[in-house]
Amino acid sequence: MSSNKSVKMSEEEIDKALEKAEKEAEKKDHKKIWMDKMMKSAKTYYKVCPYYDKKTSKCFLSLSSKCNRDGKYENCPVFLDFLDNKYKEFTSKKKILPLDFLDLAQSV
Ligand code: SF4
Repeated sequence: MSSNKSVKMSEEEIDKALEKAEKEAEKKDHKKIWMDKMMKSAKTYYKVCPYYDKKTSKCFLSLSSKCNRDGKYENCPVFLDFLDNKYKEFTSKKKILPLDFLDLAQSV
C-alpha cells in the first residue's frame, strides 16, 4: 500500500524532506548563479567561443567534433556542460569557485 506511505509521514519526516528539497534547490540556484556569472564574464573577453577553432570549425571541448554554432557559445550545451562540470569539480574538492572566466579557463 505505497499510496498510504505519504499519509503516514510524521511531521519530522516532512520537515526533513522539506529541508532536503530546500538544500537541493539552493545548490541548483548557486550553480545557476555561478554559471550565469561565468558566461557573462566570458562574454566580456570573447566575442567568439574561446574553444572554437576558426580554421577547422572544431570544438576543443568536444574532442575534435565540429562546432555547428559558428562559435556562438551563449546557451551552447557543450559550453554549459563544461561550466557544469567545472562547478562540480570545484565544489567536490571544496575549492573556491573562480569569479572570473579567465581564472576558470586557466585552472586545471
Ligand atoms: S560547440 Fe559550443 S563550446 Fe564548442 S566551440 Fe562551439 S560554441 Fe564553443
